This record gives sequence, C-alpha cells and structure tokens, in this order.
Amino acid sequence: MATWQCVKQCGACCHLDARDRPDLEEYLLPEQLTLYLSMVGVDGWCVNYDRTARECRIYADRPRFCRVEAEVFGDMYGIEPEELNDFAIECCEEQITGVYGDLSLEMLRFEKAIGISLDLPPTL
Ligand code: SF4
Ligand code: SF4
Repeated sequence: MATWQCVKQCGACCHLDARDRPDLEEYLLPEQLTLYLSMVGVDGWCVNYDRTARECRIYADRPRFCRVEAEVFGDMYGIEPEELNDFAIECCEEQITGVYGDLSLEMLRFEKAIGISLDLPPTL
C-alpha cells in the first residue's frame, strides 16, 4: 500500500495560481481565502516559496491550509482521518501533474517515495 509523504524540493502545491484552483471558496473560510490570495505572486507561485532552494521560507509558520493533517483536511474537504492517506496522494498527484507533468522527475520521485511501483516504458 502506498503511504503518503511529502517529497523535499517538490513544491508543486506551492504553485497557488487561483486560475488552476477555481473551487477555493468551497474549502477555504473567507479569511483563509484572503490570506491565500495575498500569497499568490505574479508568477503564480507562493511568495513564501524559495524557487531556488525549492522550499518554503516560513515552513514552521505556514498557514493551516498548507498542512497535510487529518483535522485540517477534515475541516477543508470533509474527509475522515482514515481517508487522509489516499486523498493526500491524489491531491499531490493532481498538483504535480498540473505543475510539472505526469511524467516529470517530480512525479517519479513522489511515486517512488510513497511506494508506488513505476511502470516505466522500456528503454531503447
Ligand atoms: S505536492 Fe505533495 S509532495 Fe509536492 S510539495 Fe506538495 S505536499 Fe509535498
Ligand atoms: S506558505 Fe509555504 S507551504 Fe504554504 S504555499 Fe507558501 S511556500 Fe508552500
């Protein structure tokens, strides 16, 4: 069974462009939405994301909606704690696909980290 984990130097979920997330109002409270929108840089990436180091500059103090935790995801998406693992995996796969592509190095690294066996095409 695949076990969710965040992969260092991925950052796909830190690409916050609201055009790619039309349903923000469905899971963020008004004040959270205001904070979220204030964090979107002109390039669509979070202003707190260091694109060179590929990491969050405020990780310890990141907003609640950035945290993959059962209580947070329960509040935002109405899922039960036992659903968190599969739900988080789907979220990451969707976000990594959108930002980097489904055959990207980031996707390969993520799937390897969570224990999904890779179906790579045979090399010529
Ligand atoms: S998309 Fe997933 S693996 Fe990538 S940084 Fe976000 S939580 Fe981590
Ligand atoms: S605050 Fe940090 S974890 Fe949250 S989106 Fe921005 S860079 Fe990513």
